[in-house]
Amino acid sequence: MEKRLRLAPSPTGLLHIGTARTALFNWLYAKKHNGKFFIRIEDTDIVRSKSEYTTNILDGLNWLGLNWNEEPIKQSDRISIHKNHIKKLLDIGAAYRCFTSESEINELREKQKKSGLPPKHDNRHRNLTSKEIKEFISQGKSSVIRFIVDEETEIRWDDQIRGKIKWQGKDLGGDLVLSRRALGNEIGDPLYNLAVVVDDNFMNITHVVRGEDHISNTAKQILIYKALDFKLPIFSHTPLILNSEGKKLSKRDCVTSIDEFREMGYLPEALTNYMAFLGWSIKNPESEILSLAEISNVFNLSDINKAGAKFNWEKLNWINSQHIKQMELTKLYNFIKKYWNDMGWESPSSEWDLKLTNLIQDSMILLKDAIDQSKPFFILSQMKKEGKEFLESKKEVKESLKYILFYLKEANITKVNKDNAREIINKITVNHSIKKGILMKSLRVAFFGCLSGPDLIQSWELFSENKIDIPLIERCFN
Ligand code: GLU
Repeated sequence: MEKRLRLAPSPTGLLHIGTARTALFNWLYAKKHNGKFFIRIEDTDIVRSKSEYTTNILDGLNWLGLNWNEEPIKQSDRISIHKNHIKKLLDIGAAYRCFTSESEINELREKQKKSGLPPKHDNRHRNLTSKEIKEFISQGKSSVIRFIVDEETEIRWDDQIRGKIKWQGKDLGGDLVLSRRALGNEIGDPLYNLAVVVDDNFMNITHVVRGEDHISNTAKQILIYKALDFKLPIFSHTPLILNSEGKKLSKRDCVTSIDEFREMGYLPEALTNYMAFLGWSIKNPESEILSLAEISNVFNLSDINKAGAKFNWEKLNWINSQHIKQMELTKLYNFIKKYWNDMGWESPSSEWDLKLTNLIQDSMILLKDAIDQSKPFFILSQMKKEGKEFLESKKEVKESLKYILFYLKEANITKVNKDNAREIINKITVNHSIKKGILMKSLRVAFFGCLSGPDLIQSWELFSENKIDIPLIERCFN
């Protein structure tokens, strides 16, 4: 049978890493089994739902490469269908009108709190007569629809990640509210647990994969499935993503939206690679650097851990750097070029651009690192304290730089390359007995203002082509 999975995000915020990882697990399982992956936008909370969040969520999923089948479904388009199902539950006696007012509910909660009991509705209107209902309505009282939860019932399911799960009806907080308040004989707007069951059934969803915070909802939903005589999907509840303190990753942990990761310079393929390992693992992987297709080939829901997954920046950074290393040069260049354009940096040629991209590729962790790492090739770098000290540390330092200028002029070199650079270095070390080590360090300090940086000869070629090698050496004498 075709496996059909879905992501059902509420558009009440930017695409969060937790939602993105749920999408990923659903997507991977669907791909592994040649199934389908759908999106349903759960936008029935009119106050908090915003269309720009829907756009952001879809854009983010697209950017991550998590493509979906068919047009996303909007839950708000289906309200009348949800209401019809509530009517059906009323008709078969599985649900009823409850007129308990907000203040009566608060009173009940206070009482329960005082006696140390968890909040639970007392189902006081479960058995109202039609006369009593009419009376409440004629008094202008509003009502919600409640679904009858049998206290004695035990709900069980086989969770693909957690194994056998059991819930007691008495632990579900009393009869379940299916709709918001409405006056008269109206049915108010349907709530999540009802809508999700009706929609998952309508979409023929075979596997529901979502966060563990939905476990008690699953217990409630199973009761609704049964009452409506719907076929149950297979449920899986993924572990939470935790921060370094072991608490649920939240907005307080600074970066949580996919946009922010994108802006910081993470690659979509690195982020999906890392997110897969947030909870899932494979035995003896040949490599941890995997594409979406490679992961989906070996992916199994049962290989997801039950325990929470700690977010680890170091690992994410390492995975990102590996994906950058493996990236095709022109693809990487296209990313980097945007930063250069933003900075207003102009380069001498597109060949030069590719050479510089190649030079910094292996030392980049984030795409954004391209700014700092390529800056010295466009703009004369500042001499740092370390560089200044080195320049004054031995007389051979400035001497060697003078010789470089001398030989560049003598041979009339306007474009340095590997060969003429080596020739100059040889001449200086042989004719003037300057140690190669000192010469190279001096040149590095001249170019980068410090003692670190990428391959020196390749850098020299690039500085020379951009006509800043001589000014960089000359500044050491000012
Ligand atoms: N709208 C719910 C949420 O974003 C969906 C949960 C589910 O997958 O059923 O948490």
